Amino acid sequence: MPDIIILAGNPNVGKSTIFNSLTGLRQHTGNWTGKTVGSTCGFMALHDNNIMIIDTPGTYSLIANSPDELAAAETICNEECNHIVYVCDASCLEKSLYLLLQIMEKRGGITVCLNLMDEAERKGISIDAQALSRELSLPVIPMSASSGKGLNELIAAISNEGFSEIKDPSSTPDIISIKKKASEIAEKVIIASKNNSIINLLDKLICSKIFGVPIMLLMLFALLWISISAANVPSQLLSRLFSLAGTLLRNCAFTLGVPETLTGIIIDGIYGTTAWVVSVMLPPMAIFFPLFTLLEDFGLLPRIAFNLDPIFKYCGSCGKQSLTMCMGLGCNAVGVTSCAIISSPGQKLISILTNSFMPCNGRFPTIILLAAILYPDGGDTLAPAAVMTVILLGALITLISTKLLSIIYCRNEKLSFTLELPPYRKPKIWDTLVRSFYDRTAKVLFRAIKASAPAGLIIWFLANLKFNDTNLISYICLFLDKPASIFGLNGTILFAFILGLPANEIVMPIILMCYTSGSSLMLLPAAEEVGRMLRNAGWNECTIICVIIFTLFHWPCSTTLMTIKKEYGKMRYVFLSALIPCLWGFLLCYIVNLIL
Ligand code: GDP
Repeated sequence: MPDIIILAGNPNVGKSTIFNSLTGLRQHTGNWTGKTVGSTCGFMALHDNNIMIIDTPGTYSLIANSPDELAAAETICNEECNHIVYVCDASCLEKSLYLLLQIMEKRGGITVCLNLMDEAERKGISIDAQALSRELSLPVIPMSASSGKGLNELIAAISNEGFSEIKDPSSTPDIISIKKKASEIAEKVIIASKNNSIINLLDKLICSKIFGVPIMLLMLFALLWISISAANVPSQLLSRLFSLAGTLLRNCAFTLGVPETLTGIIIDGIYGTTAWVVSVMLPPMAIFFPLFTLLEDFGLLPRIAFNLDPIFKYCGSCGKQSLTMCMGLGCNAVGVTSCAIISSPGQKLISILTNSFMPCNGRFPTIILLAAILYPDGGDTLAPAAVMTVILLGALITLISTKLLSIIYCRNEKLSFTLELPPYRKPKIWDTLVRSFYDRTAKVLFRAIKASAPAGLIIWFLANLKFNDTNLISYICLFLDKPASIFGLNGTILFAFILGLPANEIVMPIILMCYTSGSSLMLLPAAEEVGRMLRNAGWNECTIICVIIFTLFHWPCSTTLMTIKKEYGKMRYVFLSALIPCLWGFLLCYIVNLIL
C-alpha cells in the first residue's frame, strides 16, 4: 500500500474536495482556476497505516508556466511520492487526458479518478469507464466528489495499489503526440454529448461586453445591500447581550471584592473592546462572506476577471489581478498569497503592492458603520451605495496605480496569459456556510479578538495614566492633532490607525474608547448612537469621508506586511506596499479636506 499519495490534475476538477473527504481537513475549495497556489498535505488512516495525502495546485502541463504550476510539476515528479491519484474532469475528458498522458510518460502507480460524473451526466456526456481503464491500462474510478459518490471505491482502489516506480523523470513529454493520443482516447470512450443552450445563453449575457460589467455591479450592490440591511438587528441583539453580560461581570467583581483597577482593566478594557468588535463585525461578516462564497462556487469570479481583463490590460496588467482583488476583499494576506496565480513577475509584484486597496473584512465593518452614519436617513439604499462607491474607488486607484507601476515593473514583459472559465456549478449551500464560517468569519474574528484584547489593555492604561490631571492618550492625540488636521482627520483618529496596525478591525473601537474619556468602551454599536458620539466629539461630514478614505488607503495590517515579506523576502517591497496606499490616502484626504 502506498504511504505518500499525490492528488494531481487540472485546476478546478475537484482535487481539494477529494483531499478534504480523504483527510477530513478543510482545504479551500472554489469554482475557479488558481485558488490552490501551493501544495497542502494531510493524513488519512487506512488499515492501520497513516497515509500522507498531498493536494497539488492544478496544472495543465508538466512544463510549468507559473509558480503554482511549477510547484505542482515538482511535487508530481518527486521521487518520494509513491502513488498518484489523477483527478479528471469527466465533463471535459480530453483536456484532462493531456496532463495524465504526460505524467504517465514519467511515472507509474496512477489511479484515475473520473470526477464530476454528475456534471457530465447533466451535460449529456456519458463515459465508458471500463473502456477508459483498458485504453490507459490504469484503474479508473467514476466519482462525484461533492456528494461523496465513488469515494469508497477510490479508497479501495488506493489500498490495492503497490508502490509506483519512477520511469524517467528527466524525459520531456512530446506534447503534439500526447494531444493526438488524448483526443483519440476521448473519442473512443465518450458515448454521447449535447450542448446546454440555457447555460450558454447565461454565459453570453454575463460575459457580454455591454451587460457584463453592469450585471457585476448590480450583484455587488445586492450583496452589500443584503449584508448591511440584515446585519442591524443581530448586531444590536449581540450588543445588548454583551452589555448585559458586562453588567453581570461587573456586579460579580464588585461582590467578590475585586479591586476597581483590575475590574477596569479586564471588563472595561479587554472585555469592552472585544465585545464591541464581535457585535459590530460578526453580523455583516456572517452575511457577506457566505453570499460571496456562494457566488465563488457558482463560478462567477473568473467571469469577473474575464469582463475586467480589457481594462486591466489597458493598465498594463491582466484580468487575473481582479481575482486576487476579490480574494483581498476577504483578507489582504490571502489576496497577496493568491497573486501566485499571476505568472508575470512584474504583474505579480504590482498585484501584491496594490492588493490592500481592496477593503478586507477587517475594514469592511468600519466602512459600513461610517456609511450608515453618513446617511442616517438614507434608508436602505444610500449606505450600501456609499460602500459600493468605496469599493469602486479602491478599484479605480488600483487601476491608476497599476498603470503607473507597470511603467517601472512591466517594461520588458510580454503580456499574455490564459484564463479558464469554469462551468457554472450549483453551490453546495451547507458546505459553503460551514466553509465560509471557518475560512473567513471565525479566522478573522479570532484574529480581531486576539488583537483587540491587548489593544484594549493598552488603551485602558494610556487612558488611566494621568499627568497634571490629563491622561496620556490626550497628550498623544494632542500631539498628533496638528498634522492630522491637514488631512481632515484628528489626533485621535491617527492614533487609532497607528494602534490598529495589528488588526484594522480595532480602529473604530479605539476611537470610541478615546472619546468616552478613555475609561471604557461603551457597548453602543447602533449607527445612530455612534454617530451622535462622533459628532459630539467634533466630527463632521468631511471627517467621516476622510476617515472612510483613510480606512481604505493606509498601511496594510501587520499580517499582510509579513505575508509580503514572506512572498518576496525583500523589505523594499514591504516598505513600498505600505507607502503607496499611505500616499494615496493622504493625497485624497487632503483634497477632500480642501474641498469640503
Ligand atoms: P480543485 O481546484 O481541483 O481543487 O477543485 P475543488 O475541489 O476546489 O472543486 C472545484 C469546484 O467543483 C468546487 O466548487 C466544488 O464544490 C465542485 N466540485 C468538486 N467535485 C464535484 C463533483 O463531483 N460534482 C460537482 N457538481 N461539483 C464538484
